[in-house]
Amino acid sequence: MKMEGILPFARLLLEKAVMKGSAAIDATVGNGHDTVFLARLVGEEGRVFGFDIQEKALINTTSRLKEQGLNEQVTLFDRGHEQAASCIPPEWKSRLTGAVFNLGYLPKGDKSIVTKPETTITAVKQIFEMLVPGGIIVLVIYHGHEEGREEKEKLIDFVEKIDQQKAHVLRYEFINQANNPPFILAIEKR
Ligand code: SAM
Repeated sequence: MKMEGILPFARLLLEKAVMKGSAAIDATVGNGHDTVFLARLVGEEGRVFGFDIQEKALINTTSRLKEQGLNEQVTLFDRGHEQAASCIPPEWKSRLTGAVFNLGYLPKGDKSIVTKPETTITAVKQIFEMLVPGGIIVLVIYHGHEEGREEKEKLIDFVEKIDQQKAHVLRYEFINQANNPPFILAIEKR
């Protein structure tokens, strides 16, 4: 047996929940790796909604999607994920099976533009309301930077208080690694 690393485990969770023909959210598009992954999971009949506040991220992701022939099934918003509920069309809201947040800053980008605990939690609440039963929200938490430490604490505090009748909440983390490795919080709607 080989324990899954953090990013492969995040994808494993999404693969189990995100169905062909359903909707999924990439809440932090960045360079678009998760957007591509989700676009393949939902297929041509499904739809991925992606959010990012940096134009550079949306440009990079648009060209990545085009290269792979996946742009038709993806809608990108140059808005914060905290606006998810008002951006997603009603016909897709009822088909939402999964969402991923890859928190922190854009790799090789501006390290001063980071996700923030208040807007992240607002988005998680909105997305949770839309999720179908059995749907999942996967958060990959990077806490090596100062704002990341604060975001980690506030998110843990928030998810620990989610009613267990409403969701299963998981934390997946390697606890003997140096340099604050990322870890996963996952919320599965019951
Ligand atoms: N998953 C991405 C990839 O495959 O490259 C990496 C995401 S990166 C760690 C985090 C991204 O979140 C950055 O591109 C940043 O601009 C974005 N971001 C920060 N605040 C945001 C917000 N309120 N809503 C949506 N995206 C946000």
